[in-house]
Amino acid sequence: MGVVFILVPLPLTLAWSLPLLAGGGIMCVASLFMAEGAGPVRPPEGFRFCVFCSTLVPDGSARCPQCNGLQPPEGA
Ligand SMILES: [Zn+2]
Repeated sequence: MGVVFILVPLPLTLAWSLPLLAGGGIMCVASLFMAEGAGPVRPPEGFRFCVFCSTLVPDGSARCPQCNGLQPPEGA
C-alpha cells in the first residue's frame, strides 16, 4: 500500500481517485454476482453444510467427515 504511493509521483487527488475507482468497480462487479447468486450460498444437490465447520456433508450422513460433528436430523 505505502510502496504504491511512493512509486506513483502523482497529485494526491489522482493517487486517491484511482484506488477508489478500482474499489467501486470491484464492488459493482461483486454486487452483480451477489444478485445472481440469489441470497446465501446453497449446498449442491444431495449435500448440506456441516453446522459446525460448514464442510459439505452427504444428506444421509449423520456425522461430518471433516470434524465428526453430529448433524441435526434431516429436514431440521
Ligand atoms: Zn464439520
